[in-house]
Amino acid sequence: NSPEKPAESGKHAPFSISGYLTNRQPNGDNLYANALVQFDKAVAHLNLKQGVIEAMRFPKRELSVSFPVEMDNRDIKIFRGYRVHHSIAKGPTKGGIRYSADVTLDEVRALAMWMTWKCALMNLPYGGAKGGVVVDPKSLSSRELERLTRRYATEISILMGPESDIPAPDMGTSPQVMAWIMDTYSMHRGFSVPAVVTGKPVEIGGSLGRTEATGRGVAVTILESLKLKNLNPGSITVAVQGFGNVGSIATKLVHDMGMKVIAASSSKGGVINRSGLSPSHLIKYYDESKGLTGFPEGDFISNEELLTLDCDVLVAAATENQITARNVNKVKARIIAEGANGPTTPEADEVLNANGAFIIPDVLCNAGGVTVSYLEWVQDLQSFFWPVEEINRKLTTLMLKAFQSVMECAESYGVSTREAAQILAIQRVADAIVIRGIYP
Ligand code: GLU
Repeated sequence: NSPEKPAESGKHAPFSISGYLTNRQPNGDNLYANALVQFDKAVAHLNLKQGVIEAMRFPKRELSVSFPVEMDNRDIKIFRGYRVHHSIAKGPTKGGIRYSADVTLDEVRALAMWMTWKCALMNLPYGGAKGGVVVDPKSLSSRELERLTRRYATEISILMGPESDIPAPDMGTSPQVMAWIMDTYSMHRGFSVPAVVTGKPVEIGGSLGRTEATGRGVAVTILESLKLKNLNPGSITVAVQGFGNVGSIATKLVHDMGMKVIAASSSKGGVINRSGLSPSHLIKYYDESKGLTGFPEGDFISNEELLTLDCDVLVAAATENQITARNVNKVKARIIAEGANGPTTPEADEVLNANGAFIIPDVLCNAGGVTVSYLEWVQDLQSFFWPVEEINRKLTTLMLKAFQSVMECAESYGVSTREAAQILAIQRVADAIVIRGIYP
């Protein structure tokens, strides 16, 4: 499945994307090429018009910006940023903004496409988008981060709006960054527009439960997988790769459900203790040390060792391309929960499926975040806010419904859970395109 020749990998892929990919990474590393491999595989099961397929294969629109920021020492630095709208067929576009030194346009394209499938799978009235700025946020002071955010928000304001495109946090961004975006947009309009962005602090129209929502969704789908396999949470061991917002909350919640977390890691490595780790101690240590290495209640474990650890559930909540052709044969966990977007490459995915592993695919597993983003947006638009119990109940109901429909689709098509999630989502987006009709 070479990303250069998708036309050979499926009869539905007429265009060569040669020249379209912006960064020529080795096969398997280019996230957009990986997203297309998944798409071509899923779409081959559906009876769709060629033009409808092509409409979904490429992003609707892409904005690349280059903008100056004044640093604290008065130097002017130029930063590069993106905002990609993958699909507007089902509603305004929704998706996070990522700050990372590694951001590329192809990565943002893939993440935008996955937002389309995620929102469609969850039955949220949105299309998919993603944004990114090429910057290591840790290298900036708080004032520099604010200036960069306000300028980037201004640059993408031609796309952004509560009825057109609603950003949210992703890797490297936070509720505070969302507050600056909301304020910047509101200053331009002359009045407050809380619904322009989600994942805001609750003080300015954020939703209760939003910060925990992605991790909560991960935990809910893991528990449901155990039920499906008749496994008792009390006998389950879990390893968690990534201890940011998603991994840390998922760790706490699976522990509360009775599972034993035996390993956790952040970017520089982590900790293992076969007798079990305390989530509250891990979270306190992580907040103070900005990492998990050196955590005293266990032994050091590298990220690579954690991925191949003998355990029941592996939560991949770090970043993309972690489970690859290189390490997949050593992965021992029977349940893989994709808290991150794109943690498994297509080659690794095939091996996991052939080995009988049960994958909770990213577009389902981590969909709790955008689901409560939707609830936040609805609350902002109606200026009436719900208690956290209501939010968590709605979130759980929507997650379980999507989980159920993925299992039924996997069964009826005889495909993997990932293919099933994509089949459902792609069919819904295609239906929207066809029902709306082609303008003019
Ligand atoms: N960045 C998150 C994701 O990948 C959340 C997006 C949102 O809430 O709009 O799903």
